[in-house]
Amino acid sequence: MQQLQNYINGQLIAPAAGQYIDNYNPATGQVYALIPDSDAQDVELAVQAALAAFPAWSSTPAETRGRLLMRIADLIDQNLDRLAKAESVDNGKPLKLAKAVDIPRASSNMRFYGTAIQHFASEAHYMEGTEAINYTVRHPHGVAGCISPWNLPLYLFTWKIAPALAAGNCVVAKPSEVTPMTAYLLSELCMEAGLPAGVLNIVHGYGHKVGAAITAHPRVPVISFTGGTATGRSIAATAAPMFKKLSLELGGKNPNIIFADCDFTNALHTSIQSSFANQGQICLCGSRIFIERPLYEQFRDAFVEKAKALTVGDPLEDGTKQGALVSEQHLQKVLSYIDLAKQEGGSILCGGQQVQVAGRCEHGWFLAPTVIEGLPYNCRTNTEEIFGPVVTLTPFDTEEEVLRYANCTDYGLSSTIWTQNLPRAHRVAHQLHAGIIWINTWLLRDLRTPFGGMKNSGVGREGGFEALNFFTEPQNVCVKL
Ligand code: NDP
Repeated sequence: MQQLQNYINGQLIAPAAGQYIDNYNPATGQVYALIPDSDAQDVELAVQAALAAFPAWSSTPAETRGRLLMRIADLIDQNLDRLAKAESVDNGKPLKLAKAVDIPRASSNMRFYGTAIQHFASEAHYMEGTEAINYTVRHPHGVAGCISPWNLPLYLFTWKIAPALAAGNCVVAKPSEVTPMTAYLLSELCMEAGLPAGVLNIVHGYGHKVGAAITAHPRVPVISFTGGTATGRSIAATAAPMFKKLSLELGGKNPNIIFADCDFTNALHTSIQSSFANQGQICLCGSRIFIERPLYEQFRDAFVEKAKALTVGDPLEDGTKQGALVSEQHLQKVLSYIDLAKQEGGSILCGGQQVQVAGRCEHGWFLAPTVIEGLPYNCRTNTEEIFGPVVTLTPFDTEEEVLRYANCTDYGLSSTIWTQNLPRAHRVAHQLHAGIIWINTWLLRDLRTPFGGMKNSGVGREGGFEALNFFTEPQNVCVKL
């Protein structure tokens, strides 16, 4: 059985305590690899390696740093098939999705920040009348801690480490222990690309051990975290008294608002994607669909028919639209929300139960796409993050009403609006409490835009120069001429 290793100081090494964790294939329910059960000792080694590498890396010209990131991007592209298969096996997502989205986006992240850093200019302010000039230098912080979740493993891992490295920081990173494989393969590619030792260190293991040790380490002044809101809160509690700089990308409970004048075919097709892509395990999925009453029944019936037609099956097979949920524990959590929805008075229009896939996947963790109606807009099912292939349908009559429904949760990550009335689209967009709004589309991403949420969906923004600002410390120098 394959045994993964930590990537510390340019080498693949075993965890200090010699302990390993079982790594499951969610489609078969079988253990297929072992990953390091690292602890604070391994984090200490990684931080020391990063500190030692920092003086040389931070003074390496941005162009050279960028070129190395682009070399890693090229290697990701060259290994597309291998990485996509690894991601699918590790996470349960359809291979086709990993090949079309996850892995290409990982190389785009590296390439984007490998080039962005070369356009990252300093500001200067001339003071009229006093004959002085200010210029602002942006210094890397030193060692950045990057902690990422299991839903889009390599995609979100590289979204953090690329800007951190491009800006001249060294990194101690922890992928989710549920999906460590592609981060491990990335460490091999970094070695092949010639990334200097200690610049990127990847420590595998549990959040409460490795993640907590990175967060609490006094020599890691900046933490970029993507994951659940409860974990974000605990990271903030540890980091705040140490005055660490924090970027938190947390959960969502995103509304998908369908007005009666929408382009029906497009709204329907894209809403199936935004509800069930990656088995609904994308923080940007629209799990609450609000439909203007005149269109309600037509949309509901067509939506349910399409949801029923999604093939749930072996993620490695071409025709599969829905793979496995990431873990048995997560499947049970999602099922418990379906029970809650029934208790709260919801009607299950389709799905609602586990699916047994014949053959090699008979013990996998599959769930039928689930559509629920008849729930109050402010019940628990409609306000808590489920993070699975489960959506609710709710009719509305007025803009005011749908804004009240949409804004009633503690989350504020993204929202989608479907209408052909452009003034209304903008009016509604500006009143939604969400960091990311899509009008007549979903998950259309320009990497230059600010990415992140309001309220309990996070603090700070990733993307574009926002991330380079985050991973650098501005220093203003004022010169009297
Ligand atoms: P978790 O919060 O459980 O875990 C995220 C990462 O943090 C994992 O690597 C985890 O390790 C680690 N971790 C857990 N506990 C601690 C701790 N005490 N200190 C430091 N690190 C810790 O989230 P999930 O992995 O379950 O991911 C799903 C969540 O992520 C959803 O809520 C989703 O909405 C959110 N998400 C947000 C996105 C955004 O951009 N806003 C994008 C994608 C997902 P371990 O795996 O060992 O628990």
